[in-house]
Amino acid sequence: METNEEATAIKDIIIRAVEQNPQNSEILKAFEPVIIMQRHLAAQSSSKNLDCSLIDKEKLRAGVPVISQINLFLPEESFKEITLSMASAVKEGMPQLTENIDKISGLIQEGKINPADYFKESAGSETKATEGLNKDLKISPSNASFLMSLVSRVVLERRAKEITAALGAFDWEKGYCPICGEFPSIALIEEEGGKRFLHCSSCGQDWRFTRVSCPYCEKEALEGMDYFYVENKTQEAAFVCDKCKKYLITLYRAGKVFTRDMDISAINLIHMDIIMQGKGYEPMSICAWNVLG
Ligand SMILES: [Zn+2]
Ligand SMILES: [Zn+2]
Repeated sequence: METNEEATAIKDIIIRAVEQNPQNSEILKAFEPVIIMQRHLAAQSSSKNLDCSLIDKEKLRAGVPVISQINLFLPEESFKEITLSMASAVKEGMPQLTENIDKISGLIQEGKINPADYFKESAGSETKATEGLNKDLKISPSNASFLMSLVSRVVLERRAKEITAALGAFDWEKGYCPICGEFPSIALIEEEGGKRFLHCSSCGQDWRFTRVSCPYCEKEALEGMDYFYVENKTQEAAFVCDKCKKYLITLYRAGKVFTRDMDISAINLIHMDIIMQGKGYEPMSICAWNVLG
């Protein structure tokens, strides 16, 4: 029951997004079953809790994210179940990947691939782990990495919720994510008060960050001068930094009329990604939807 309500809520958000930017309807529809499945799986808890007492708030204050303090991918995690569920959602939204995804699912079911191995070596060498799988089993490397990045988000989102619940309030002043260390995919600026919030698409975490510096290189930015807008769309912008040449898609929120999903908002602003990358800027974080050939 709860799952259906959750899915309906996401579908409604996507309907509104398509109304705003009809040109993005195809990609939004492709990601719909993927996001519904991710939110559904992330709402369940992991079989074993992290030892959050090992997280040092002083280190957080100094800018050391949780992922550099404790292991977020415990071997007890149900990687296999999560991977197979995500595989079926990918096939639903992106039927052109069916053949490759079926091949991967088959190998997992036969026990020839163990999704847990992908996370075992983690901490920076994720690509290495999939490279091995690809070489031995002849599966498409990009499809395997895409699938595992979706699985990673589910696991990290569960952990982000668990960690924030255990830690309570903590100081964090960096432009990268306090949980997983990734840079943001999108920012939200509240019209009232003008606070800027950054969103991490790798784990779903949101955090507040100063408006006067670049989240990527920390260069001080002059408010208002470093944003790029598209004509007639005053709520959609991109922050740009001339020092590191990165951009960050930014949304202005007028009021709280509708519930948002920041990942759907990010996907719904890919026309901004196309414009900014065309101008020679790079995204702060690579996501499945902003890698433009
Ligand atoms: Zn994160
Ligand atoms: Zn910068």
